Amino acid sequence: MTDPRNTAGFETRAVHAGQAFDPATGAVIPPVHFSTTYAQDGIGGLRGGYEYGRSGNPTRTALETQLAALEGGAHALSFASGLAAEDALLRAALGPGDEVLLGSDVYGGTYRLIARVLGAWGVGVRVVDMSDLGAVRAALEERAARILWVETPSNPLLRITDIARLSELGHDAGALVVVDNTFASPALQQPLALGADVVVHSTTKYLGGHSDVVGGALVLNDEELFAQAKFLQFAVGAVSGPLDAWLTTRGIKTLALRMRRHSENAHAIAEFLSGHEAVERVYYPGLPSHPGHDIAARQMSGFGGIVSVGLADAASARRLAESTRLFQLAESLGGVESLMNYPDEMTHASVRGTELAVPPEVVRLSVGIESIDDLIADLDQALDRL
Ligand SMILES: *Cc1c(COP(=O)(O)O)cnc(C)c1O
Repeated sequence: MTDPRNTAGFETRAVHAGQAFDPATGAVIPPVHFSTTYAQDGIGGLRGGYEYGRSGNPTRTALETQLAALEGGAHALSFASGLAAEDALLRAALGPGDEVLLGSDVYGGTYRLIARVLGAWGVGVRVVDMSDLGAVRAALEERAARILWVETPSNPLLRITDIARLSELGHDAGALVVVDNTFASPALQQPLALGADVVVHSTTKYLGGHSDVVGGALVLNDEELFAQAKFLQFAVGAVSGPLDAWLTTRGIKTLALRMRRHSENAHAIAEFLSGHEAVERVYYPGLPSHPGHDIAARQMSGFGGIVSVGLADAASARRLAESTRLFQLAESLGGVESLMNYPDEMTHASVRGTELAVPPEVVRLSVGIESIDDLIADLDQALDRL
């Protein structure tokens, strides 16, 4: 714990945690370990604890060390995707008959995983607006939940939940509090320090940061839950491959710089859109008019790179989504390039017609790190065509 790689400032940890130079060659960047198996000094004589690629890999360990250091957690586990990480956590924490209380605009795939995969094994799900703590309390009084699962900022409506207060509420009710920290990233928000039990990530987004690697992670302090999730990582096998782990590690080194720039650009775009006559509503927690602005200002060190925008109707939203040149029409978010998404038919198509459906007049922007003048000019010409 006294190793400065784990206790120094955030940017220092991002560059150095898990990244000690290779002792054999002095290579400053630790090599990527592709080997699936490890020579033993006599039966059971493992060097460094590695035995077989599914149970452990030094490149994956490096990423897990880096992730734990950034979220301020004792343990991290890296998986092949965000949903694989979620699956391991849910199966580690839940049994048949248990229920998850889920935020009302979480990632559609999280709802699908619980309702349509784990549902068949007896796991229940209820949905509540997590930014409304009165509603959360009422839902817990109605019936116990094993897990409270929240995204803040949420996807795609950027609702803000007070993590510290939600954690108290959840703990009083005997529930585990899980925060999907994908949108904020640890550079802007650290849920464990605010009282949450587990942080979940789709590292595919800001942590990887370059739209070139799919991955997911869990970060947590509880020893027992960690042991169970680690067992599932090994026994089920949805591990990150070595090259995926390495690309994610490389992306993370510039996380703080990127998040600062994403936040600056998104803020400028939110202000530009707020002043445009074709725009009905802007969803961005950095705007003082956002209902969660004060909480976000308290628990985040920047407001992030996602801006959602409400147009007059679904037809205008679709037209905007299809009229930009620099913003590319694509799913996902969190990369250096700006993307445009029409949630109702793209990322959130799986929750259409459910309580999690996204209003059809909403478009979500993942604001990249390009020159802000170019991004605004692109949106301006697209809005002119509505
Ligand atoms: C993308 C995403 C996920 C799922 O992660 P994958 O890496 O696509 O499996 C989970 N939560 C949020 C908030 C996401 O944006």
